[in-house]
Order: sequence, then C-alpha cells, then structure tokens
Amino acid sequence: MRSPDTRWAWVEIDQAALRKNTRAFKNLLPRGTKMMCVIKADAYGHGAIPCARIMHAAGADQFAVATVDEGVALREGGITWPVLMLSEPPVESVPLLVEHDIMPTVYTEEFALAYGEAAAAAGKVGYYHLAVDTGMNRIGLRSNEVVDFRRAIDFHRGLVCAGTFTHFATADEPRNWDFELQVKRFKDAIGYLRDAGFDPGLVHCDNTPGTVLHPELHLDMARVGVGLYGMHPCDATRGLVDLEPVMSVRARVTRELYPSVGAGVSYGCTYRVPKQNVQVATIPIGYADGLSRTLSNRMKVLCHGMRCRQAGNICMDQCMFAIDVNTNRSYHPSDEVHYGDLVTIIGRDGDEEITVDEMAELRGTINYEVTCDFGLRLQKVYV
Ligand SMILES: *Cc1c(COP(=O)(O)O)cnc(C)c1O
Repeated sequence: MRSPDTRWAWVEIDQAALRKNTRAFKNLLPRGTKMMCVIKADAYGHGAIPCARIMHAAGADQFAVATVDEGVALREGGITWPVLMLSEPPVESVPLLVEHDIMPTVYTEEFALAYGEAAAAAGKVGYYHLAVDTGMNRIGLRSNEVVDFRRAIDFHRGLVCAGTFTHFATADEPRNWDFELQVKRFKDAIGYLRDAGFDPGLVHCDNTPGTVLHPELHLDMARVGVGLYGMHPCDATRGLVDLEPVMSVRARVTRELYPSVGAGVSYGCTYRVPKQNVQVATIPIGYADGLSRTLSNRMKVLCHGMRCRQAGNICMDQCMFAIDVNTNRSYHPSDEVHYGDLVTIIGRDGDEEITVDEMAELRGTINYEVTCDFGLRLQKVYV
C-alpha cells in the first residue's frame, strides 16, 4: 500500500470505481441526453481535477462547481470542458467568469447585464443558465417571473441562455407531493418561455436520486453528483444502480504501548484502560482532517482486519485506538499492533469494511458531508 512520504494519513481514491460509477450513470441516460458531473467542493472531497479527467473519459459532457474559485482552479488545472457554476456569484466576479469561460447561473438582471457587458467587451459569448425556484426556496426565479426576466435581458447581444434548470428538494423520496409540485412548476416555466418565443437552452432538473428514480425527467441533461463517488443518496436508489465506493481513508500507526490499567488516554482522559493487555496505538489523523470529534469513543477503525474501538477524545491532528489483545480468546501476540501497521478509517481491510454511510450515521449527518470533510487536508493518493 503506497502512502505519502510526508504524513501517515491519507485518502485513497479508486480510479476504476469512479470510472465504473460514471459509466453506470451514463448508461442510465438515453443517447443524446447530456451528463453534467457535479464536482463542487473538490469533487465531494475526491479531488476535482483528476476526477474530472476520469469522468470525461467515462462519458461526462459538462461539469458543475459551486464557486468561482472552484471554476478558476479547474481552468488553471487544464480542464477545458464546459463548466457551470450552480449559483449566481457577486457581480465583482464577472471579469473572472468571462476570462475563464465559466458559465454562471443567473437570476438577477443586474448580474446578467453586467456579465453580458463584460462578455461582449471581451469579444466572447456570455453563456449562462437560468435558475428556476420551483419549491426548494434557495435560488432562482419563480415560474411566473421567467418570461419577464428574459424580456428584460435578452436584448443584450453579449448574452446567450445555454440552459434553464431547477433543483429538487425531495427527489430522494418516492411519490412525494412536494416533488410533484416542483415538477409541475418547472414544466410550466419551460412552457411559458417557449410560448413567449424564448429558447430555454438545455433543460435540466435531475440530480443523483432524480436520475435514478425519475428517468422521465432526464430531459436534455442530468446533473449527477454523489452517486459518481459510489454513494447512494437514499435507500430507494440501492438495487437500481450498482455503485462502488471510491474513497478510502487510511493511516499508519505512529506509536503503540501497553498503558497500565486505569491510565487515561487523550484530552480529558475520557477513555481509561480497563484491564491488562490492552494496547493503545496512535494514528496521525484528527478532526482537522475530517474525522469529526463527535465520533470520539464511538467509532471503530480496522487494523489487521479486526474492528478496534477508537479510544479517548479525537485530537485536531491525531487520535488513538485500543487493541484488546485478549479478544475472544487468550492472549494472542499476533493481534499486537506495531509501528507502521496499516489502519483503515473508511474502506475495506480483509473481510471487514467501514463505510461512509456507517460513519455518517454515527455522526448524525449524511454521506456527502463525510467525504467533503476528509477532502479538506489529507493528501489524496490515486490508485
Ligand atoms: C449539488 C447539486 C447537484 C448534485 O446533487 P447530488 O445529490 O449529489 O447528485 C445537482 N444540482 C445542484 C443544483 C446541486 O446544488
């Protein structure tokens, strides 16, 4: 197992799994329907630039990011495929968008016109996507506002509407009334635009759960995010698309010892060695690496294919775990952990596996947040 030279804690990205998941989503879409791969937040913690290259080779047509900086980083990393920013940034960012050909989402006239001006001045076309708020109440225009908005901005020769989209609040809940209402409002908005003679560009609304559960709404393009990384957005999609986990989180033991019975471990001594022959080992990963402190004394790690309890409060950059060398049998020295031994925080070791979903459940959050957090500081190794 390759590990970085500078730190014995890292994220491992399985390129074959990412490729396979991307193809699985591409195969769900009819020929001619585009796939926009969502790589915001550094590809949900997986590394946006390498992921974009793999996804493109596996069928991605376009990419989506959350911030201007994320878009600029893609361009500076040599990514030349279409990039949509999924919200409307401050008007001050317009020169950067134009310079780097990043399509913004728009919903205010002021922003749209400033963007059109800058694009025209640069001799470029200001492609944008229009957001429709159909019920998420986050961004966009209401269905009954889209025609007036287009009337107000379409005179501008610098602007071209490349797409019109909405985002579902409950695409992961089958036969949901809020969802049906959003679908109706979105279809209304597209209808109003077409009736008034406006081209909506690419019409899109499906996210990962929508893409799997609502194929009738693939329309011109699907925006796929979490599923690409091998995670299911909800139980309903399990069994409908075969996904493989992409991220593992690993570390190596930096120190081990047998403290005396009753000895406390880590800040606050919240774990005390309960009996003889309990070994305590340290790994260099902590809450600043995405291993939430709320998991202290509650999570397990894998070592030698065994589940071992994490011990004591998780520190900013390190944490400890305990190995009960008497587990289910008499003293067994081969269970002992040594300096440099491999520890799995997320992923597989022998027959045992700790999934992102297991950790999300323990943290009281969703799988999305768990991988985003691990992406923040740990070095990524692509295998
Ligand atoms: C994040 C996001 C997506 C992707 O959602 P997943 O559930 O990860 O597929 C799609 N569209 C918009 C607007 C988003 O913000």
